[in-house]
Amino acid sequence: MIEMSDHDHSFCIDRVLADAKAVCAEKGVRLTDQRQSVLRVLAASHVPSSAYDILNQLNKERKEKGETMLAPVSIYRALEFLIQHGIIHRIESRNAYVACNEGPDARHRHGEATIFLLCDKCGRAAEFQSESLGGLIETIAGKVKFSPNAPVMEIRGLCEECQKLEGNG
Ligand SMILES: [Zn+2]
Ligand SMILES: [Zn+2]
Repeated sequence: MIEMSDHDHSFCIDRVLADAKAVCAEKGVRLTDQRQSVLRVLAASHVPSSAYDILNQLNKERKEKGETMLAPVSIYRALEFLIQHGIIHRIESRNAYVACNEGPDARHRHGEATIFLLCDKCGRAAEFQSESLGGLIETIAGKVKFSPNAPVMEIRGLCEECQKLEGNG
């Protein structure tokens, strides 16, 4: 579970990168430098980033190092790869991306639903898995013989910190 409060992200980045390496090793696919750098940007924040946020940040770093600029297509390709292997998620309502918060062992078992709690004010996203909600969705879908894909729910609202700020304002 993601802490919605502020904390040291270096731990999150290390953990997300280590998990991603484990997933890629297990599947026999390559976590290239470019895929890794896209993932690093996402893992550094619990606020979902758009493809252009990622592109701008990486190109800023590359410019400082005197490296060639990346084109948007390379970011989209890396994002596609990371989604395909369950390493990141797309937040549809924001057209943005966030690193998956589940470790390789806990990651998205069949029949579970993923819930994102999205703060409207600070933009943070918290990810949860629910077996009971997944079961409920399968029951409802089963009534009309509908076959659901891995269901994802995006729920908007205010995180604890932003509620406190609102209260004080
Ligand atoms: Zn996830
Ligand atoms: Zn908030």
